[in-house]
Amino acid sequence: RRAVRTGPAPTALEALEKVFGYDSFRNQQAEIIDTVIAGGDALVLMPTGGGKSLCYQIPSLVRDGTGVVISPLIALMQDQVDALTAVGVRAGFLNSTQDPAQRREVEQAYLAGELDMLYLAPERLRVSATADLLDRGTIALFAIDEAHCVSQWGHDFRPDYLQLSMLHERWPTVPRIALTATATEVTHKEIASKLQLGEAKHFVSSFDRPNIQYRIESKNQPMQQLLSLIRTEHAGDAGIVYCLSRASVEKTADFLVENGITALPYHAGLDSRIRAANQSRFLREDGVVMVATIAFGMGIDKPDVRFVAHLDLPKSVEGYYQETGRAGRDGLPSTAWLAYGLQDVVQQRRMIQQSEGDDAFRRRLGANLDAMLALCETIECRRMQLLAYFGENSAPCGNCDTCLSPPEGVDGTIPAQKLLSTVVRLLRERNQRFGAGHIIDILVGKTTPRIAQQGHDQLKTFGIGADLTDQEWRGVVRQLLAQGLLQVTGEYGTFAVTELSASVLDGSRPVKLRKEPERTSRAAKKSKV
Ligand code: ADP
Ligand code: ZN
Repeated sequence: RRAVRTGPAPTALEALEKVFGYDSFRNQQAEIIDTVIAGGDALVLMPTGGGKSLCYQIPSLVRDGTGVVISPLIALMQDQVDALTAVGVRAGFLNSTQDPAQRREVEQAYLAGELDMLYLAPERLRVSATADLLDRGTIALFAIDEAHCVSQWGHDFRPDYLQLSMLHERWPTVPRIALTATATEVTHKEIASKLQLGEAKHFVSSFDRPNIQYRIESKNQPMQQLLSLIRTEHAGDAGIVYCLSRASVEKTADFLVENGITALPYHAGLDSRIRAANQSRFLREDGVVMVATIAFGMGIDKPDVRFVAHLDLPKSVEGYYQETGRAGRDGLPSTAWLAYGLQDVVQQRRMIQQSEGDDAFRRRLGANLDAMLALCETIECRRMQLLAYFGENSAPCGNCDTCLSPPEGVDGTIPAQKLLSTVVRLLRERNQRFGAGHIIDILVGKTTPRIAQQGHDQLKTFGIGADLTDQEWRGVVRQLLAQGLLQVTGEYGTFAVTELSASVLDGSRPVKLRKEPERTSRAAKKSKV
């Protein structure tokens, strides 16, 4: 049934040069491609922008039959197919956005052997007709893109990915290549076991992105801080700003537009046509800033994104690394900037407590958040800490905020004791719990109506922390939370001490705090005007 190819199949290098117009392979591309062409399975961990696509596109051209690519990125399939068609690769896709006639056309092309590549949404494989269709043609390989979607613990879990083990059961001789830019050991193992990639060769690239400058500063006036970042360092640049909620996406986009910046919103609550239009403007126009929830970005291949900004704390280091990895795919200097504050910590701890799911699930979310907080509060090189999280050893990088202006580690034992003893007294003497704002009011000795009404000016700790500003106290609270010396309890975000707190209160455990370097706090002050 298959149409005969005109001429012999190209070699991998010929395909690279003639079809894609590049003269050499990057990183481990050549070995990965050779493995798959020879019929072996491969599990590829490579950072965003590393060049994963060619690892399955070239074997699809070289091997007999059609390379079948499973991808969750339905919104991008048309673009991917268009890009391949433009360089002469015969490609098509099957997903839920097509009408039956369009689907039939692609199916016919596949059966006639006229497709080099077929992109398939994972849910297509739920219908047995799809597997039957695949059986009636020749499958060159299966590529499982964004393979971390199989991880139930991860941030991009897609239930349909779990059934992809059927590929191996049904077509045991067809080589499979699973690819992801998510790099932790846990995810790595989970992909291998869930997709039955026991025999696969593993290709793990370095995850370092040396051209990205990592910076994390404390949240003061976040939108002003963002605006000053854009104006002073990234005027006219393309960038992505991540916010946690749809409402803050809208608010931030409006704010940037009012300040003369070309900014567009993107979140799941927007009409799909608006979303598609905004995505396409971001890809095609220069200097567009996309303000988005994390719904945006997977699979987006825009080489010249110059900055990725986070206005809210990401839930995990993995998520943070994926999102920031969308900056600087072209290898030119780029910025990953995060503003993070006390409220972020309180909010996320509360969300974890209230989340559905068993204890193990909550513990895993808690551990993810702890790692993210440790990154935020570190006084060491951010990149070293990031890479260590992914199991890589490295030396201080010289291109992150802590390398460029090292923060001071200061002894925070006394402020910590003042704060913790206030929390303890409120509970012991009044049987009360409060959130950060009120506790700080007590410490700095502010007579607010609530303080008066509760008689908290009678507490022994009232006013004992007047030597620090509100903002500085918020920093102390944040860091104690990050270090597990204070915890959030209940749905109102009130605080309680932890098992570790006692050793701080009795003086047997010193507390080290991170003092924001001058440069950052000055920038924050300036941006207040
Ligand atoms: P990933 O999927 O890993 O994020 P891509 O496959 O999108 O990365 O590749 C990132 C960019 O690098 C693309 O623009 C791609 O064309 C380019 N690229 C990939 N491999 C090579 C190569 N060997 N030589 C030159 N450019 C390459
Ligand atoms: Zn560094």
